[in-house]
Amino acid sequence: MILVTGAAGFIGFHVARELAEQGREVIGTDNINDYYSPQLKQDRIRELEALSSFSFHKLDLCDYDGMEKLFKGLGIKDWTVDVPCITGRLKENPEFHIRPEVGGKYLRYGYGEGLHAGAPGYACGTHLMAVAADGKTAKCSFYADSPVGSIEEGLRANWQRIKPVRLESLNCDCHFLSECRGGCRYRALLSGNELGKDFYRCHSYDILHSDE
Ligand code: SF4
Ligand code: SF4
Repeated sequence: MILVTGAAGFIGFHVARELAEQGREVIGTDNINDYYSPQLKQDRIRELEALSSFSFHKLDLCDYDGMEKLFKGLGIKDWTVDVPCITGRLKENPEFHIRPEVGGKYLRYGYGEGLHAGAPGYACGTHLMAVAADGKTAKCSFYADSPVGSIEEGLRANWQRIKPVRLESLNCDCHFLSECRGGCRYRALLSGNELGKDFYRCHSYDILHSDE
């Protein structure tokens, strides 16, 4: 099942049609706004709906309640909602920063284990390892500047060098620890302490009421 957002737009329409014609199950969403002719958009959706493997839901991608309802209705087991870490190019563009009290509100959405699932008793993504284009490996791509090795040494050997983070080692003192697992270690690192709190997550659990 493939979700194509903006399915009534120029690119979305062609992508959805190509996939549906290949026989893939395609779910299309679009809010059919009036940025340009809504009639044209509706005509495109009608054309797509003639394909048996396509179905359409008029929905705005920014409507989180609506998206959640759609995913749950489709039986989707995992929905990951995240906020970007303020690093790299994002760091250079402060106008795009999302503050913890704002980002936390969106982190409340999303359900299931997601990509960053950890083993019981451990913080984020114990199974994860990122391999960069140059073959260097790291805990995840945010840690690319501190690689643990390179792919020539074998993936297993590299992965075994990544030190898993135990929940008991975190400076977290809330009742949500086993569920939250301390959130994202890299976000905590950006706040000054890799074993500290991920303030975005704290706001998502409503245990902070300021922009701490
Ligand atoms: S540090 Fe953050 S992005 Fe990296 S694996 Fe952990 S939760 Fe995921
Ligand atoms: S909500 Fe905050 S304090 Fe609680 S586990 Fe998550 S990051 Fe730690």
